[in-house]
Order: sequence, then C-alpha cells, then structure tokens
Amino acid sequence: MPPKRTFYRGRFAPTPTGPLHFGSLVTAVASYADALYHKGEWILRFDDIDESRKISESVDTILRTLEVFGFEWAAKPTFQTERKELYHSILSGLLQDDLAYYCGCSRKEVKDAGRRTELGIIYPGTCRNGLPSGSVGRSIRMRVNHKSTQFVDRFAGPIKQNLGKEVGDFVVGRADGYTAYQLAVVVDDSVENITHIIRGADLLTSTPRQLYLQIQLGLDVPSYGHIPLVVDSRGTKLSKSTGASAVSTDYPLNLLLAAWKFLGQSPPDRPLADVSEFWSEATNIWSAKRITTINKK
Ligand SMILES: [Zn+2]
Repeated sequence: MPPKRTFYRGRFAPTPTGPLHFGSLVTAVASYADALYHKGEWILRFDDIDESRKISESVDTILRTLEVFGFEWAAKPTFQTERKELYHSILSGLLQDDLAYYCGCSRKEVKDAGRRTELGIIYPGTCRNGLPSGSVGRSIRMRVNHKSTQFVDRFAGPIKQNLGKEVGDFVVGRADGYTAYQLAVVVDDSVENITHIIRGADLLTSTPRQLYLQIQLGLDVPSYGHIPLVVDSRGTKLSKSTGASAVSTDYPLNLLLAAWKFLGQSPPDRPLADVSEFWSEATNIWSAKRITTINKK
C-alpha cells in the first residue's frame, strides 16, 4: 500500500547534449514512479552548466520525448544556466569562510604531483595554504577533511568515503569559469526543495562530496537512491558521449515496460492500452525494494 502523504519532491535532471537514450529513460521512470507512489511532486531540471557542451535543440527534443512517454512535471523546467549568479555568490561565500581556496595548478601539475586512486588523481594540496608566489588562481577547490562522510543509500545501502584520503580537495569552481557540477547540483537540489534523489549508480561515488557541501553550507540532506546503470554489450554505460542511440517514440508503452523490467519491477497484471494506463498501474505496483543490485562503476 502506498505510504501516507508526506512532502516529497523528486527530480529528473538530464544534460541537454543530445536526445534521451534508454539509460536516461530508466532513470526518469524510476524517479517518476517513486514520486507518484509517494504522492509527491516531480520536476525537471536541465543540467546545462557546461555551456560548451549544450545543444540547444536537445531541450525541446527531451521535453517532447518525455511527453510522449506520459511524464508530467509539476513546474516549469529549470536550467542551471539561470542560476549562475547564485552559484557565484555561494562560491564567494565558501572562499570568504575559508572553506574553499584558489588553486593555480594546471591539470598537468596536478597529474604529476597527485596521488592516483580508484576515483582519479588526488590533488596534492599545493595551494591549500595560499597560492605559491607567481601563481594565479585558476580554479576553486573545496577544503576537505579526513573524517568519514557517510550516508545510507536507499538501494546501495551504507556508503562511506574519507574525502581526504579517497578524493582530495575537489574543484567547485572550474578554471574555465563554470561552476563545477558537484556544487551546482547541491545548490539546485536545495533551491528546488528536492527531498528524494534517484539517479544512476555512476554518481554514487560523487554523493559524499555533495553531502560534504550540504553540511558545510548548512543545507538539508535529501534522501539518495542510486539505480543500476544500463550498459551496452561491451559493458559500457549508455551515454550521450559514447553515442547511445535515442529512444524511439514510436512504441512508448513497450519501452516503458522494458525500463520497468530493467528496474526489477513486477509486470502489470493486466494488459495496458497506453502510457497513461501504464502510469496509473505503475503508481500502485512500484516497489523500491525490488531495486537491489548496483553496479558501482
Ligand atoms: Zn593548486
């Protein structure tokens, strides 16, 4: 039985760099079904902070595709590019409070001096106590600690990360002037009062950084659930950058059922005529508990 109504606001945040592929459809289905089940709201946000990668017609294509699949969003879609000033004022605040600092290192300098881990290269801390003389601040890095940052993921269970050891002081303001995704997404989720986040498991290892930012900024921490990634025959995550094909809008019901199956959900027990019947059925039979397997990469 669906739970009693409590405030629930979920979101789907595609990058407008191409049409939706099956992997993004699965994420949209999971987050929407969970919101419907909780009698909550579901909104759309375009992760377009990296304007160099934006393809303007993708926004319309994505919106049209979501409509064909029967998704309904509770408010006008939002865009990260509309919040640039807010991100910058938050970055200034972090610098002022010494929670973040300017870094003058080039990518190569970090690569040469940094320690390599599973999650990438750990910044060696060169500019942590001030820019070396002659160096100019290029990016802004968050000062992390060596305590464990932890949370319980709805699907992946308890997650722990020692940011100091495993990630290092991470970039919140990019050298090219754009706000880094980690900070932008935290600000967005807070401004939009997002209570529940369901997204792909590729972001699981980023979540402790976002949690750390929420704590440092005194923001509420939403509930997180990371779903398994859809991979191709070579085991690579479907993504726009690897040229995953766009979902066809010819037979939306079939693709919704395929996404449903991928999410481990039990099939509807009656034949469905169209996408709106799918969603009214999905509202009742959605079971977050059936999502258990996570491929963390
Ligand atoms: Zn540096």
